[in-house]
Formats: sequence, structure tokens, C-alpha cells
Amino acid sequence: MQKHADFSEFTVITPSADISVSRHGGRAKCLQRLLRLEMPVPRTVALSFDAVHRIAAGQIPDITPILAEFGPAPLVSVRPSSEDPDWGGPGAILNIGMNAVRHRELAETIGQAAADLIYLRFIQAYAIHVARLDPDQFDAEEASEVTIHEALLAYEEETDEAFPQDPVVQLTEVLRAMARSWEGTTARLLRQAKGAPADAGLGLVVQEMSMGLGPAESGSGVIQFVDSATGQSQVTGRYLSQSQGREGLSGEGVLYLTRDARGRSLEEHCPEVFQELLKWGEISRQRLREEMEIEFTIEAGALRVLDAVRVNRTSRAAVRIAVALAEDWIIPREEAIARIEPRALTELLHSQVDPRGKRDCFVKGIAASPGAATGRIVFTSAAAQASAARGEACILVRRETTPEDIRGMYAACAVLTERGGMTSHAAVIARGLGLPCIVGASGMSLDRRTKSLRTAEGRVFREGDIITVDGSSGQALAGEVKMLKPALDSAFTSLLRWAEDLCDIGIRANADTPADAQTARNFGAEGIGLCRTEHMFFEDDRLTVMREMIFANTPEDRASALDQLLPMQRMDFIQLFEIMQGQPVCIRLFDPPLHEFLPHSRDGLRELAGALGLPLSDVTRRVEALTEFNPMLGMRGVRLGITVPEIYDMQARAIFEATVEASERGDPVVPEIMIPLVSAKREVELVKTRIDAVAAAVRTEKGRAFDYRLGVMVETPRAALRAGEIAHHAAFLSFGTNDLTQMTYGLSRDDAGRFMGIYVQQGVFPEDPFHTLDVEGVGELLHIGAERGRAARPDVVLSVCGEHGGNPESIAFCRKAGFDYVSCSPFRVPVARLAAAQLNL
Ligand code: PEP
Ligand code: MG
Repeated sequence: MQKHADFSEFTVITPSADISVSRHGGRAKCLQRLLRLEMPVPRTVALSFDAVHRIAAGQIPDITPILAEFGPAPLVSVRPSSEDPDWGGPGAILNIGMNAVRHRELAETIGQAAADLIYLRFIQAYAIHVARLDPDQFDAEEASEVTIHEALLAYEEETDEAFPQDPVVQLTEVLRAMARSWEGTTARLLRQAKGAPADAGLGLVVQEMSMGLGPAESGSGVIQFVDSATGQSQVTGRYLSQSQGREGLSGEGVLYLTRDARGRSLEEHCPEVFQELLKWGEISRQRLREEMEIEFTIEAGALRVLDAVRVNRTSRAAVRIAVALAEDWIIPREEAIARIEPRALTELLHSQVDPRGKRDCFVKGIAASPGAATGRIVFTSAAAQASAARGEACILVRRETTPEDIRGMYAACAVLTERGGMTSHAAVIARGLGLPCIVGASGMSLDRRTKSLRTAEGRVFREGDIITVDGSSGQALAGEVKMLKPALDSAFTSLLRWAEDLCDIGIRANADTPADAQTARNFGAEGIGLCRTEHMFFEDDRLTVMREMIFANTPEDRASALDQLLPMQRMDFIQLFEIMQGQPVCIRLFDPPLHEFLPHSRDGLRELAGALGLPLSDVTRRVEALTEFNPMLGMRGVRLGITVPEIYDMQARAIFEATVEASERGDPVVPEIMIPLVSAKREVELVKTRIDAVAAAVRTEKGRAFDYRLGVMVETPRAALRAGEIAHHAAFLSFGTNDLTQMTYGLSRDDAGRFMGIYVQQGVFPEDPFHTLDVEGVGELLHIGAERGRAARPDVVLSVCGEHGGNPESIAFCRKAGFDYVSCSPFRVPVARLAAAQLNL
């Protein structure tokens, strides 16, 4: 380590120097690593965060000793070196030390043209970035005596001073300008947005210039050894003869790196240098344990490595790179797992808007279900179905969706709603289906009459117009955009397999249909944690029977409708059991209020009256009678099960008959039956008595023994508080954190989207509690419920099946609280799996 008495904060980077990321930044540390690998890195000096901070504060040291490191006629560059390269920093400044004398000398050694170019570029960079003069006055492209003279003159006119000729002055001012720009408010806000702490430091590296200009082969380039979009092995990059820095690398005359039919390549032009670069690429992959992009120059035929940074990458490339490194034994599997941000996996599971394309966003909402899709706008589910029948992709745009829209959602390729939040109907169903979805897009309003939507800015979109829903960002875009396809490749599968080995909390899926169950299995779910049976009743033929059941005037009529539903439900369950091949399947008994199954529009009511052979007025009256002021807190869940017990009887029978049949054909099945919206022990007792009776009847009828497990959904605060006595009757307690959050906060899950943005923005809630579990409030209820449940029944199985089950932070909470498993939408299973695995690293 070499230090100067007056200015103790600079260090010459050598293999053994005392350089650390936390004091000098990532670039300085990386340069040291490259030196340790014996790469031909030019001499470099590192300035610490402290030194740069003091420079910004006006305590400018004598920098003569730094320049002295670079010989009698120094020519250097300065680059930023922050702790995390993603936090940005001021741009590099090259050729510090250029002045009239050097200009003349260089003209002798590397030629007039090259010397002119270097001098002009330096004057321009200094004027714009250091003296902060108007860039328009320093935009000459051609370098010549004339343009240099003009630039010098312009500088003098604007500053009333001659362009500084002394390298010490030049470097001092460059350091001061870079240090100050880091401390500026805009730069600070920008990096804080990327996660940098308020007091993040900046280091600077001063490096001997490597010319890239002059006689013999000289130039600059960048090279990397994987494709940034896919992560596949592939040499990519650019090289430009007679150039410096990265600026020129997109212009004319750029060479390809490998042989290419489209033009000349570095491989042919400078084969030795190319081979040397390949060697350094492999060495840095092995020793730095990362795919690096190398910035290099060729100086009179000799390679110099100026810098190396982690290759920029998409999420799918990140997965492939990490898995390939682990498969090549360069990093352990655990590290591959640790390197992937769980949420990034959703990018691999769905089509995504290509980040390189243009976006014309017309409205923003809550990013409720990831992925993107393009289609024609439809405003009704019927139109969505008609569109699907024509084979035309469509986007269902609704004020909000109701269970009636399920068929429309199946038919659509994405959903956009004006209202709603993370756990509103549209959001939950879309996530289950893996359908891109934006909810709570309150900046638009729908006009049913004219079949159009109007944005707050006055843009109008009509039925049939093409739009794109980007459910990952919450942006609805006009027209079609370029997409990236999902990438469920072998790297993804390997990563998930490794993650599975590390997981110590179970991951199940919320799956309502055979298709969901298949997806869940494909993604490695360990069973179904929640099958919302009501979603099975929305297919055309069933809906009619369901409505007949609701409208039945006598117990006999009701029984007859339920008799028709029974075989359909039995078939549903047989399919689920068969797909899950002996893995647990937890079926929730009917939950929503009955009126959700009834039509709300006049046309719908008329149609229903026709189907049932009843006068319209009767149907309307009946629908009105079923309407509740607050249906989410009304006649739903177990309350319905106790008031109209025949529905649960039918479901239990369907489950048990399916159990017998599926067990005869394949793996033995022990179904789990779950009672929703419980708030009192007695509710469980009443339902349990009836279900036990149905089980006994089916056993007798079929002459078969089977087991089943009865559990309770804890989704009212009272159920959590009374979990002790409830657990006496329940083999498992599954916390429905959607309703539990709704009821704990007294916050409607369907309406919260309207103000959630403002609430989070103003810091009322740190985050949307329907998205990330509120560990302080709802979490305390989970703790209480778990503790009391376990105390009463030590073997009770505990789980979370609300949307939080797929949220990495919430999974960490559940694991710590000793839950046995979480259950989330099938498409979130991989994310949950990786997040859970990372908790064990
Ligand atoms: C819940 O309330 O958390 C839950 C899983 O049930 P649903 O979302 O169907 O109300
Ligand atoms: Mg619920």
C-alpha cells in the first residue's frame, strides 16, 4: 500500500493493497481482483469514499502525489467506484493531462489526427462535465486545429479563464466535479430509488490512459461471453479501431468480435488478442465466479484490460448463468439459489413486455398478476367468450369482476379493471389462472353505452381496439408491443429442484380446476392447500343448476338440483385426486354468498327467468331478497353451510365418493375438508357432525373404509383468538389471510385499491397489507392462533393459504412462526419455493 503524507486517502491498486468494497467501491475492488489474476490492467489509484466526501465538502488536497504515480507526463482517466455498480455515479472522464504540449508530443508519436481527436474530446468533456458549460457550444464532431482552437476560445469566453493546461489543476477540478455530482440531490434520489442508503459513498479510480489511438492496431472494445437476454454461452461485444472509451462503440466501423457473415471481426483482424480475451473471460469466470463484461483497449497491438463488470442480464439469463456456474462446479448450488431474486422467477413464467421496446402507457393500476398479453378490448364476459370462439385474443376490461365473469376471464388473455386491490376477485382469479392482470386502474372510466373507456387525460379506447396489459408493472399500453416468451427451460427446472432440497416449509398450491392442479404439479407443489370449490360452479351447465338450487322453493326441489350437481363435483374431485397422485388435496367447502351466482343485469335476469320458467318479477324479487348490504360479512362460508346444510352435504358426499373411486384406481387418497369463515367452535361441531354422518353413509354404501381430515379456515379475528377450542375439532388450521387482513383492518379487499396507493405513498401502511403480510397486526393474530391451536392440539397442522402464501417476506414470517406449509397460486409456487429455500442458506 502506498500512501502520501499530505493526502492519506489514495492507494495504488496492487494485488496486495488494502482495498475494500466498503471503503473504495466495487470498481476499485474488481480492478484489484483482475490484477491478482495477472490481467494487463493499467496502473490505477483508488480514492476512498472518505477522500471523495471531503473533496465534495471543499477540502481539496494537493493531488500532485497522485499524478506522480503516472510518470512525468501523465495522461489519466477517472471513473466512479460506488459500493454497488447499480447505484450509478458520474460518467468517466478520459485523457486528463492533455494540454497544448502533450498535444504536440502526441502528434509526433501517434499522429496528428489521433492527437487532435484526443485533445478535442478532452476539452469538450472538461467544458461540459467539469466547468458545466453549455454542451451545444462544444459539439464539434471533426477534430482539427480549427475545431480545437474554437473549443478553447469558447471555453475562455464562457469562463473568462484560459483552458487549464496544468494536469494538477485539471485532475483536481475533475475530482471535485465528480465528487460534487455524487452529492447532488438528483443523484442521491436516483440511487436511493435503487436501494442505496442515504449516506452511500463514492470512490474514484484514477487510471493511466490506454490510448486506443495511434499507429499499429489500436482501439477499444467490450466483450462478454454470454448472451444478456438468455444467459446462453455466446461471445458478444464490439470493437472499434482508433477509439477510446465506450462512446464510439455503437457507431460506424465497429467490428464484430467473432467471425460474422455481416462484416469484419476482431477474431479475424487480431486473432491473438481475440484468443487472449477468451482466455481472460474463462479465467475471470472461474476465479471471479461470475460472468463478466470486459472493457479493453488494444494499444499498438497489445491488449490492456481497463475494467470488468458483471454482465447485465435479464432474469432468465440470471437463472441460466447461476445454474451453469453451479453445474461447472464454480459455485455451490446454494450460492446459485442465493443469487436469484425469487420475484424475478415470475419473469420466466410468463410472457413479458420486452424492456427494449417502446411503451405507450395510457393508464396505471395495481400490478395484480404478472406477465403481459396483447389483445382486443372487450367489455363483457360474453364478448370475451365470443372473441375466444373466433380465435381472437382479447383483453377483458371491467369496472370490477364478479364470479359471473369467470368464463370471460378464462376466455380472455388478460384483465384490466378500474376498481379492486391485490385480493379482489379479478386479482385472485387472474393469479390462479396465470393471467396478466391490472386492477384499481382508477385513471380510466368505462362507458357501457358507447362501449369505450376514457382516461383521465381524455384518451378514448373502444371495443376492438388493441391494447397490452403489463401485469408485472401495472401499466396498460396502447397497441401491440414486443414480447419476451416464457422460459421454463432446464436451468429453471434445475434451480427449483435444488431449492426443493433446501426447503423446510411445505409449499402447496391454491388450485381450483384440473388445469390449475396440473400447473401446480408441474411447478413442484407438494399438494393442494386450497381448492375453492365455488369456482367449479361457474361453467355454463352448472351455473344453471346452481341457480335452480338457489331458487328452489322446497327441500325436494333443492335436493333435486343438488343431485344434479353431485356427479359433476364428484368428477371434479376425482380429476384433482388423480392429477395430484396421492399428494394432499385440501378442499374448501362452498364459501361465497349465494347471490354472487345470480345475474345482476336486466338482460341476465330476463334470461334466468326464461330458463327457470318463472316470471321476471319473481326472479327480480328473489335476487333482491338475497342481496346483502355487506355480503363479505354476511351469509357466506360456514354460515351458509349451517343455514342451507344440504350444500355441504352434497359436497362432502362428492368428495368421499371421489375418494373411494380414485383410491380404487390409483394412489390412496385421504381428502382434507376445510370449513370457511368460522368464528365459533359450535359452527365446527355442527358441520363436523353432518360430514361425519355423510362419511359413514358413503362407507356403508360403498363397503369401503377411508379416512378424511377435517380442518378449519382461520380467517376471522375471533377464530384466531379462539383457535384453542376450535382446534379440538380440527386436524388442521389454515389461515386465510385475505379475509383475516380484511377483517383485522376493517378494510374491504375489493375496495382498498382506491386509496391503497395514497396510503402507502404517505406511509400510513408500509406496504399493501393484502400483498405483504402485516406482521404486526395480522401477524400477531397468526401467532396467537398458532400458539393456542398447538397448545390445545400439538399435532395440529398449521398453514397459510391467503395470497400472502406466495410472498417471500410473508413466507419468512410463516416459517419463523413454525407453520407447516404455505399455499399460493400455482404460478407463484416457484417463487415461494426459492424464497423458502433462501431462508435456509
Ligand atoms: C382467504 O380469505 O385468505 C382465502 C384464502 O380465501 P378467499 O380468498 O377465497 O376468501
Ligand atoms: Mg377467505
